[in-house]
Amino acid sequence: MSTNGNKLELPASIVIRDLAQKIEKSPIDLIKKLMSNGVMATINQAVDFDTAAIVVAEYGFEAIPEVVEEVVVETGEVPLWRRMIAGEDESKLSNRPPVVTILGHVDHGKTSLLDAIRQTDVAAGEAGGITQHIGAYQVEHNGRVITFLDTPGHAAFTQMRARGAQGADIVVLVVAADDGVMPQTREAIAHAKAARVPMMVALNKIDKPNANTDRVKQQLAEQELVPDDWGGNTMVIPVSAKQKKGIEDLLEGILLVADNTSIKANPGGKVIGTVIEAELDKSKGVMATLLIQNGTLESGDIVVAGTAHGKLRALSDYKGKPVRKAGPSTPVAVMGLSDVPSAGDLFEVVESEREARLIVAERQALAKSQVQAKKKTSLEDLFANVQAGEAQELNLIVKADVQGSLDPIVSELNKLGEGEIGIKILYAETGNIGENDVMLASASNAIIIGFNVQADVSARRVAEKEGVDIRLYEIIYRMTEDIEKALNGMLEPVTKEKVIGRAQVLAVFTASKFGKVAGCRVTDGELRRNARVRLYRGTDLVYEGDMGSLRHEKDDVREVKQGYECGVGFKSFNDIQVGDQLICYVLEKS
Ligand code: GDP
Repeated sequence: MSTNGNKLELPASIVIRDLAQKIEKSPIDLIKKLMSNGVMATINQAVDFDTAAIVVAEYGFEAIPEVVEEVVVETGEVPLWRRMIAGEDESKLSNRPPVVTILGHVDHGKTSLLDAIRQTDVAAGEAGGITQHIGAYQVEHNGRVITFLDTPGHAAFTQMRARGAQGADIVVLVVAADDGVMPQTREAIAHAKAARVPMMVALNKIDKPNANTDRVKQQLAEQELVPDDWGGNTMVIPVSAKQKKGIEDLLEGILLVADNTSIKANPGGKVIGTVIEAELDKSKGVMATLLIQNGTLESGDIVVAGTAHGKLRALSDYKGKPVRKAGPSTPVAVMGLSDVPSAGDLFEVVESEREARLIVAERQALAKSQVQAKKKTSLEDLFANVQAGEAQELNLIVKADVQGSLDPIVSELNKLGEGEIGIKILYAETGNIGENDVMLASASNAIIIGFNVQADVSARRVAEKEGVDIRLYEIIYRMTEDIEKALNGMLEPVTKEKVIGRAQVLAVFTASKFGKVAGCRVTDGELRRNARVRLYRGTDLVYEGDMGSLRHEKDDVREVKQGYECGVGFKSFNDIQVGDQLICYVLEKS
């Protein structure tokens, strides 16, 4: 609870039921107090801060305005789960347990910390310990539940975001006190910031003789995570996962952040959530872990998860105990889905199998049509997106070969971002462009700028799949010039010509409908109906433009491959001669 002494943090408006719960009094009692102050309100009605302050004063509390987490206010954009419950009746919302994920640099102790937290849970111990790993678990602290996602690391976190989901409400950033802020720590900060998820720090390994907490706090402050004991608003909790020290404080801290963020759901509302993990078990069929984010999931419910669907059966909790239903923030293992959904797919409960099949069919059709045209930000599209109201700022991830070039690049970019369209650098680091960078860019609609670096093969593959624009530069002014042009809507799409086929003209026919037609044999590659052509006579270019018609024997065709003969007509061009060479090409955006 957010009481500090008898100070009580309250939001700008609060529903009577929640207020009663906050001060642990009966709502009826509270309503009576309100009536005696001349305010008539029902249990589901909200009162404003001033009214709430007067009432709680009667119980000995001093109301202070709730500090809303900076990340939420600053950006104006709301975390995904808030959008999920946007349609719910405000009065039906109640607090739900926070869902926490642990991020941080490799070897800083994420796994150890998750184990240490799990072991503090007396209830789990009594039940004979954890019997199954389902990708999430819950612990109780001071009578309140916290859900932990136990696949640490930002790859899982960002993969989820790239799919449009957001499992975690709070990020605990693990930083080893003997090692400090490292590249993956900074990367994790960028991921959490981009997702607008509140962050707190577990300062781990404080048992080590070379632990240096002040140095780490300084480094955190440099990353805009100013520790609260330095006057900032990032909670930094010293812990030792190894010696299991500070774990209770960490849990307390998580609950404080949760109270500040006001994490809510309607247990009776539309059932919706996120797939945490899923696999195909040879004997049991599809096993999936679902995290409920709104509503209450029940055995027998019909669920659509991504493009999988089915009637759920055999719900069990993280201890492997069968359950009939599960409310908000609860992870449950389920059976009954037709296919294996992907981690990060959203799921929802629907009325009937028929509805489920319809939704899945629609999604599959949509997925097919989107394979070709994945809409992500590219530098060329930026200005159009801004004008269409789809973007107000340009998100960038910057990678450079050395720190010495990174600093001037970042300062140049920041200068460019002072105009009408802002520039937000999500992350600037040295090193090649990797898959993680691309996933962050995809999840945040960002462009990746590489300076004197390469993109890994896997990064390039993912970028192509996700439609992420990677731009490599070797000269700073070339980069600033491109970005400046893009910000001003002056950057022309860069297109590259790609020759896809060659053909030789063997005969010339006259077809009444098309005028002259070149009878050709494709000598190389293929000719495509909607591609462009160039006709050469010796070395002279005699025609360049679109293809008017393409026929194989008597049929209009879309393409003709090497070795075959075909008739080619040109738009408003008839001067074709035997012996001419035809080059067929397409324009590709580079
Ligand atoms: P992860 O890669 O972030 O998941 O890190 P691990 O949990 O695997 O821990 C990396 C190493 O640090 C392991 O050898 C742990 O035993 C050790 N370690 C983790 N936490 C602590 C701690 O609090 N103190 C000390 N001394 N070592 C720790």
